[in-house]
Formats: sequence, structure tokens, C-alpha cells
Amino acid sequence: MSLMGLSVNKVTHRYGERVALDAMCLDVVPRKIFGLLGPNGSGKSTLFRLISTLITLQEGDIQVFGSSIRDQRSSVRSKLGVVFQSPSLDGKLTVLENLNCQAALYGYFGKEGAKRVDEVMESMGLGERRSDRCEKLSGGLKRRVEIAKGMLHRPPLFLMDEPSTGLDPAARIDFWQCLEDLRTHHDATIVLTTHLLEEAEKCDRIAIMSEGKVVAEGEPEQLQRATGGDVLTVVSRQAERVAAYLRERYQLEPMILQNQVRVSAVDVGQWVAPTLEAMGEFIDHISVGRPSLEDVFVAKTGHKFGVEK
Ligand code: ADP
Ligand code: MG
Repeated sequence: MSLMGLSVNKVTHRYGERVALDAMCLDVVPRKIFGLLGPNGSGKSTLFRLISTLITLQEGDIQVFGSSIRDQRSSVRSKLGVVFQSPSLDGKLTVLENLNCQAALYGYFGKEGAKRVDEVMESMGLGERRSDRCEKLSGGLKRRVEIAKGMLHRPPLFLMDEPSTGLDPAARIDFWQCLEDLRTHHDATIVLTTHLLEEAEKCDRIAIMSEGKVVAEGEPEQLQRATGGDVLTVVSRQAERVAAYLRERYQLEPMILQNQVRVSAVDVGQWVAPTLEAMGEFIDHISVGRPSLEDVFVAKTGHKFGVEK
């Protein structure tokens, strides 16, 4: 039998009048790092709160490894390791003490508790830091302790809301190593939310969200390829001016993102020379490349990847 790690079926969620999730559907196969990519306000945290049973489901259904959050909440909770956006560590306690608290919370005491705590410290590479106070740890190590907490009851599904927020580049690399270990050596399924395009590119599969709906789903590369065409990117201090030229000459609406002008079409490669000739004095950099996930988002929604309304 094939069992989905996570299955979201026609979930609608309203905060008063505001629709945060709009008949959203999603299936996540086990043992993947699955990214929910969406701009701020697209509904990621709402879905995260629903799955982790922090808020009540209004419409539709969500199943975690076959257990429904409607009538099997405790079974769902036992299958979930949740890593919150804001840190949940007690800085004054050591790594070991923080983990012992979590073990007690889940009802693991004595030898069983100690064994589990040792195991997760070992697998997260925290053994040598066991006696360090959490407030003294780097951002990356703190995140490791958070994940270790989530691992104590050996859940098959990990939920992480914007987990790399606040991590410096080195800590991000370390964090990703950690996720890959979880998937590969602990058979875990990981569902993480992100508004960072570079982060979504690293996931095995992603769903792109906009206004409470999934607008695209698949492997990042596959989504990029399916968008078709190539993308012309021009970096210019006169972005508006370059955009006006492209609009006029090729009858296509370029996207302007700060000092970047981007436009996508099958034959953009042939536009480089004429554009340089006409606009060269305003151009710092010009290139043609494959569509990015941002281009996928624009193609699917017709608007920029920014903050939703
Ligand atoms: P994301 O995590 O993708 O930024 P959220 O799920 O936090 O998105 O928000 C989705 C929409 O729901 C936004 O329009 C947001 O303003 C609204 N929203 C989120 N939480 C609340 C809340 N507690 N009360 C009212 N509106 C909310
Ligand atoms: Mg959020």
C-alpha cells in the first residue's frame, strides 16, 4: 500500500473575512524534503498551524501518514516532529537539560529517556556540546538542538516553518546537511516552508503557493524546464528605461525587480546584441539563462514574487 506522508484535501481556512487557504490540495510522498514556497501572506504558516494541530480545521481534511487531524489528533501528533519559527529552547539550560525536558514532556523517563536523548545528541552531532548552555551556541547549533528535540519521539514527518530564518550562510549549509541526514538515515519526510527561492531549489520537490492555493507542484528543475523559453536579465541603474525599450521593441511586458529587468521568451538570445547596441550605456550586465523558480511563479500567477495582498 502506498501511504502519503502528508495529504491535504480541499482545506479552506478563514480568519474572519480573510481567506488564508482556499480549497488547498497537496500530497507529499514519504522520504522527501518537500518545500512549500510562497511569498509572505500566501498561507504557509496557516497550513503549518493546521497540520501541527495548533489551530482548528474549518473545512476539508488533512492526513498525516493516514491519520486524520479531524478525529485522530493524538495519533497525528505522535507522527509529527515540529520545528517552530521562533526558537523554543531555554537558553539558560544546557543542551542535555533542554533535551531531558522534552523527553519528560513526551513521557520518556529513566533509562528510556536517557537512551533517546543520547541517540538524538549523537545523530545531530551535539554530543560534545551536551554541557554547554544553549544561549552560548551558534545559530546553526541552536537549530540542531531544536531538530533534536523534534526527533525524540522518532516521528516519520517533520514540519518546519521557515527553518533557516536567522541562520548565517555557514549555518544554512550545516542545517541542510542535517535535513539530508534526516531523510537519508532516519527515513524522515520533511515538509518545510520558505519564501527563499534559493532554498526551494534545494528541495526534492516543491509546491508553489499563492493566495492560499498551490499553483505549481513538482521537482524544482522540472518546473523550471516546463516554464519554457529563456530569460533575458539586464542589470541597469536605469531599469525603467531599459524596460521601456524592451516593451516597445518586442511587445512583451518585462518584470522590474530593483535594478534588474527580466523578460522571458523563446528567442531572447537574439535580443542581446540589439539591446546592447541601443541601451549599452545604461547596462551593467546582460545575460540569458534558464527560467528560475521566480520565473515559474510569475508564469503561473501573472504577478511578481513579493508580498501578497
Ligand atoms: P505566510 O506564512 O505564507 O506568510 P500566513 O499563513 O501567515 O502566510 O498568512 C496568510 C494570510 O492570513 C495573510 O493574509 C495573513 O495576514 C492572514 N493571517 C495570518 N494569521 C492571521 C491571524 N492570526 N489573524 C488574522 N489574519 C491572519
Ligand atoms: Mg509564515
